[in-house]
Amino acid sequence: MKAVRVHESGGPEKLVYDEVEIPSPGAGEVAIRVEAVGVNYIDTYHRSGLYPLDLPFTIGVEAAGVVESVGPGVSAFSPGDRVAVADGDGTYAEYCLTPADRLIAIPDSLDFRSGAAAMLQGMTAHYLSHSTFPLRSEHTALVHAGAGGVGLLLIQMCKRLGARVFATVSTDEKAELARGAGADEVILYARLDFKSEVDRLTNGRGVDVVYDSVARDTFEMSLDSLALRGYLVLYGQSSGPVPPIDPRELNTKGSLFLTRPKLGDYTASRKELEWRASDVLNWVSDGSLTLRMEHEFSLADAADAHRALEGRKTTGKVLLIP
Ligand code: NDP
Repeated sequence: MKAVRVHESGGPEKLVYDEVEIPSPGAGEVAIRVEAVGVNYIDTYHRSGLYPLDLPFTIGVEAAGVVESVGPGVSAFSPGDRVAVADGDGTYAEYCLTPADRLIAIPDSLDFRSGAAAMLQGMTAHYLSHSTFPLRSEHTALVHAGAGGVGLLLIQMCKRLGARVFATVSTDEKAELARGAGADEVILYARLDFKSEVDRLTNGRGVDVVYDSVARDTFEMSLDSLALRGYLVLYGQSSGPVPPIDPRELNTKGSLFLTRPKLGDYTASRKELEWRASDVLNWVSDGSLTLRMEHEFSLADAADAHRALEGRKTTGKVLLIP
């Protein structure tokens, strides 16, 4: 079978389209015939070595497809089932293996592209808005990179919970998309100082929560945009990591909270995984959560997908089709 492998860490050119053996499932595992692969920022960190994995490896964590075979001890899934996974292993391939307890069945009404697009970024938007800082209608939230994969879904979920939502984006085209997702106010942060805009829009109060995936370029101003006792939810680092900070800064800026969450810790139990996945997949199925899937590449062109994502050229989800 074909698979995209990393033999040494580095740039997108290190993604190699290899011929490898079809994997067979061990105890508790399921083999999936992959129909659509979700590309995520974490894949670029695995590729570059920022989050190191043992070399060589097949890259990718998210996919949707059909169960090909099951290993000993698996009773919850059978060959032919339509499934998706957000924390799989080696999903940039024609077949991949996943522990059965991390697999989710997708509704018949949902196509594989939607399944692969919804899982990781959808469940991320879900835990950020429902659990890390549970939003209510009296809250105002600021969502950075509002036209991104997580961003467009997070805006929709914040609005679903009744909050007032500001979004930042880099271009006019992205501003249109963020507005279309429901953002009440959109700030072009490449041109405008977003803290001044937040001050203006909140009469100097600040926002209750900033969902910040950009990190290095936004972190300080995100802290400065918070209301007293506000939450900075730093969940990514698309512009690079934040330097170490002195906790006293949280005190002087208004008894602020800072957290650095990750999806795995909010889907650690089967119950929590099923809760978030079923909410997201049901909302996509009933049309109340809209996926944007304009960026699709063939599996052989995974390097181009990474270049586009890292080059800020994409909006919504990036998919690979084997
Ligand atoms: P996006 O689709 O949001 O792509 C990244 C976006 O970040 C760009 O489109 C761009 O939007 C913005 N950006 C700002 N500065 C830069 C820069 N210097 N280089 C590149 N992009 C920049 O990606 P995802 O939705 O896949 O992921 C967003 C972030 O969330 C990532 O950092 C990812 O690691 C993290 N994440 C964290 C999770 C968690 O559980 N902690 C789970 C899922 C994702 P613009 O042009 O509008 O500025």
